[in-house]
Amino acid sequence: LVEVKSINKWFGDLQALDDVSLDVQSGKVMVIIGPSGSGKSTLLRCINYLETPTNGQVWFNGERLTSDQRELNRHRAEIGMVFQSFNLYAHLTILENITLALKVVKKIKQKDAESIAIEQLKKVGIADKADKLPSQISGGQQQRAAIARALAMRPKLMLFDEPTSALDPEMIKEVLDVMMMLAKEGITMIIVTHEMGFARAAADEVIFMDNGRIVEKNTPDGLFNQPTSDRTKLFLSQIL
Ligand code: ATP
Ligand code: MG
Repeated sequence: LVEVKSINKWFGDLQALDDVSLDVQSGKVMVIIGPSGSGKSTLLRCINYLETPTNGQVWFNGERLTSDQRELNRHRAEIGMVFQSFNLYAHLTILENITLALKVVKKIKQKDAESIAIEQLKKVGIADKADKLPSQISGGQQQRAAIARALAMRPKLMLFDEPTSALDPEMIKEVLDVMMMLAKEGITMIIVTHEMGFARAAADEVIFMDNGRIVEKNTPDGLFNQPTSDRTKLFLSQIL
């Protein structure tokens, strides 16, 4: 479903990605780990062309991504993204946050958009919060609302960039539980996270990045139990 071929990303004279290649098949879950500044977010952002790679190719759904805005909009409608900060519109209710893109991007009628939104809110367990503003619900509930908003678009791929790192400990689990449910449903996901327990349980493949490079790629068992690179061992010893 996703194929990244030898991408490099330079910000001025800083190289954020160094010859990164990966592919993710439909229905699979890839987890990306690595220290701060290693290029994890940049890689995710290159996958939906929020950042344009300096060179190399990104393929999604059998087509090569280009900077053509119409083409990009078409692809992005099929790629959901969830950020560390929930990025909900503060002045819209949870329901309105979800129906907005359905109406604007997908041209779905108000009533139908609402029933899709309610269905997704039920799925993430917060249908009773539909009429609240983001500021009126907890961080964990806001993040679940952001996930529901992305899911409502029926994406082929979900990208998560540290979805739980802004949350208080007691709210992390409720968000990880939703993501685990999506993994079991076979939603294709690429997830940047520091939650190693989740990575072990949910990932088909784990990538360790350092300095803009993929240092190691393996099954969770392989990567966590038998890391081959010293850099990976050091990172895991610091975080586990
Ligand atoms: P973190 O775990 O802290 O989120 P990360 O692995 O996501 O880190 P990136 O955000 O991808 O790391 O950043 C990789 C490198 O690129 C860093 O050195 C960062 O400072 C740099 N960088 C990222 N975005 C930009 C930008 N828009 N302009 C200039 N430099 C950038
Ligand atoms: Mg990041």
